[in-house]
Order: sequence, then structure tokens, then C-alpha cells
Amino acid sequence: MAFDIEKIRADFPILKRTVNTYPLVYLDNAATSQKPQQVIDSIVGYYSNYNANIHRGVHSLSQEATDAYEMARQKIQKHFNAAHAHEIIFTPGTTHGINLIANGFSSLLKKGDEIIVSALEHHSNIVPWQMLCEKTGAQLKVIPMNEEGTLVMSAYKELLSERTKLVFVNHISNALGTINPIEEIIQLAHEVNAAVLIDGAQSCSHIKPDLQELDVDFYVTSAHKMCGPTGIGMLYLKEEWGKKLPPYQGGGEMIAEVTFEKTTYAEMPHKFEAGTPNISGGIAFGAAIDYLNTIGFKAIEAHENALLNYATEALLAIEGLKIYGTGTAKTSVISFNIEGVHPYDMGTILDKLGIAVRTGHHCAQPIMEFYKIPGTVRASFAFYNTLEEVDRLVAGVKKAKMMLS
Ligand SMILES: *Cc1c(COP(=O)(O)O)cnc(C)c1O
Repeated sequence: MAFDIEKIRADFPILKRTVNTYPLVYLDNAATSQKPQQVIDSIVGYYSNYNANIHRGVHSLSQEATDAYEMARQKIQKHFNAAHAHEIIFTPGTTHGINLIANGFSSLLKKGDEIIVSALEHHSNIVPWQMLCEKTGAQLKVIPMNEEGTLVMSAYKELLSERTKLVFVNHISNALGTINPIEEIIQLAHEVNAAVLIDGAQSCSHIKPDLQELDVDFYVTSAHKMCGPTGIGMLYLKEEWGKKLPPYQGGGEMIAEVTFEKTTYAEMPHKFEAGTPNISGGIAFGAAIDYLNTIGFKAIEAHENALLNYATEALLAIEGLKIYGTGTAKTSVISFNIEGVHPYDMGTILDKLGIAVRTGHHCAQPIMEFYKIPGTVRASFAFYNTLEEVDRLVAGVKKAKMMLS
């Protein structure tokens, strides 16, 4: 399919609306993406036509719902090239997936063990591991970043040892847009027999990871950042780990047999999916993946890179504007500040002009601390954004600068 931006934009009902009398310019895609009609229809279709609980029913509706839900799992498996559908665990999102693994490792770690995080992480890939360290006595080590906002790989190599049990980094930083060299990170960790978790919340809307090629142990993401609904995501769990890790929550669906003396657990994926899941969410996640694939990730990447380059150049032409995150491996996220202007004030004026950006620490306070700033203005672009919208942003930033400084 040729990349037809007008046709793509027509799929997103929200892009037709105005904000403060201006046509909406939505540049907060790193926080959540907008949803195409195809995804909205899949949710409405489920509730209108075959709403029923799954896996347990013999009646037709339950079977239709079960088939649609399991079909979505297979779509996700194919998309990410996992070896088995049962390695795809539906979760409420990235945060939940990380907590599930951190909880699982609490029985595998002991004092003296080390786990490694990066300086570029979202709070949800920091706090669960700190909690794990408190429980087990393991120690948290941090891969440092440099001024460009990229990881210092030589320092990572020095941190790795036979004490290292687990490494967890994001694929792409939500605060700066840096694409981390996860292939190398995974390979080096495996050389010391450490497992690796990749937080893919920010990457899966931009690129299509091949999980078998990466040979990663755990990969987590959220549907809502890739055109799907909130409250659903996936945890990829390599089969051997699915057997080793204990269940996270107890309840229905995750059991093989229950008596008051002893309960045996179901096989994966059900072992990790206690209770009635987000059925419509899972189905809509599948619809979102179908949608992204009809556009194609090559086309998405090319368009987003064009937006990134165009916006970077135009913003840097504004005097006093500084961009944070200047490495060469970078996706369509621009974090910036203007000398003497508070990011919150900039965001407020842009909103008055119908332009949605994020301001603040982006759930990544250690990065802000590194740069010694309270926060940034973050514009994050998706494949449905246009060069004209970048022009609106740049004009808005200039106007705000004039009003505020
Ligand atoms: C958004 C995000 C998260 C958290 O995802 P939730 O959907 O809120 O669970 C974690 N890490 C990164 C890099 C993110 O961008």
C-alpha cells in the first residue's frame, strides 16, 4: 500500500476535532496514541455481537469470543515472531508485565546477586526492581548515560559479571527517543547467563521487533501506544521461563485443579492470566496490529523520520532552544526547552493554540536530574502527523517564546 497520509488521517475520528477553536495537532503520541475506526469498531463489534466470558463456555457466544481472543494472541505472536502463541501473555499493560516478572524473580534472587537497569528508564522499569531488591537483598546497578542521552556501553560491560542475574532496559526511551542497542545488550548479558527484559512500550509503534532473532527472555509492551485500547498489553515470556516462574496472581483461569489441600496450576499462558481478562481489549489489540501492518512498518518509519528531521531542524533554528537526546539512533520524539521558559508555561500556551504536547519529567526523573532540569516540553510524532502540523508546532513555540521571555 502506498503511504497516503490523508487516507490514514481519515481513519482517526479524533483528528477531525478542534481544541480551543483550532484544528487539533496531537503530538503526545509517546503518552498514548490515537485510535483508528477499525480498532474502535472491533470493540463495539465485540460488545454488540458476541460478548460472553471466554474459555469456559460451551455456548456459541462464548466460543466465538474465545476464538476471537485466541486469534488475537496468534496475531500478536506472528507480529513479534514469538516461537509459540502460549509465550504471549495478555496483561493490563507494560507496568503490569514488569511487575509480574519482578514478582517472579523474588523467589530466584538472593543476597549478593545483582540486577542491572539503565539510566534511561521510565519509572515503571525502576520502581518494581527496587522493590525486588528490598525483598531479596539483591543489588541494583545502573548503566550510565552520556550528554547525548545514549547509554555508555563500556560501563555496561564493566557492570556485567557472574553475579548479574537480570538486565532490564527499554528499547526506546520515552523521554528522549533514544533507541538503545538492545541486540548487543542482550548478547552481552547472555554471555554471563543473565536474563534480559526489554521494555518495549515506546518502540512497538515505531518498529517491529523480532523476538526470536533478538533471543530476548522477556519483552513487554502496551497496546494503547500502538493504536490499541488502554488496559491491555502483552508480556512475551520465553517458554523455559514460563515453566520456571511462579504465577503472579491466584484465581480462576490460572488453575489446573483446586482442592483445599493443594492447587495445581494451568500451563502458560493461562498460568499467568488469573481471572476474567480484558476480552474486548485483547481483540482490539489484534485489530490494532492488523491496522499497523496494513500501513507497514517501513512506511511508518520513513514518514516518522521525515517528521523528526524536519521538526528538529526547524526547532533548532529558534534561538535559545535546546534539544535533549541528540544521539544518532533516535525515534520521532523531541524533548526540548527554551532558555528562561518553564516547560509547563510553554505547554499551556501551545494548548491554547490547539497543540497537544507533554511537559514535565515524563516519568523519568533520573534523566531530568542528569540534565539538572525540572522537565522538558516533549513533542512526539506518529505516522498520522503531517509536516504542516510540525509547522504549527514551530510557529506555536515561537509565539510562546515571545510571550514568555
Ligand atoms: C508508557 C511507558 C511505560 C508504561 O506503560 P503503561 O502502559 O503505563 O504501563 C513504560 N515504559 C516506557 C518506556 C513507556 O513509554
